[in-house]
Amino acid sequence: MLHGLYCIIVKASSEHTWWDLVGSKMDKYRCSVCGWIYDPELGDPDGGVAPGTPFENMPDDWQCPMCGAAKNEFQQLDD
Ligand SMILES: [Zn+2]
Repeated sequence: MLHGLYCIIVKASSEHTWWDLVGSKMDKYRCSVCGWIYDPELGDPDGGVAPGTPFENMPDDWQCPMCGAAKNEFQQLDD
């Protein structure tokens, strides 16, 4: 009986359903100090971050362009 459920899960995951879209969506992050929002689609060209760069992939020494806060001051936006 468990086998039937397993087949359903495998089938669903092989069809690239909703979580495929979720996985490809890049999250925005907000600076908890000044409220500036990092949009991965825009990047931070002035800070040397190319458009399309996910927040997680930015350099650890990157800082908020508005207030200079460190990466760990940023919080993920649920949108
Ligand atoms: Zn800031």
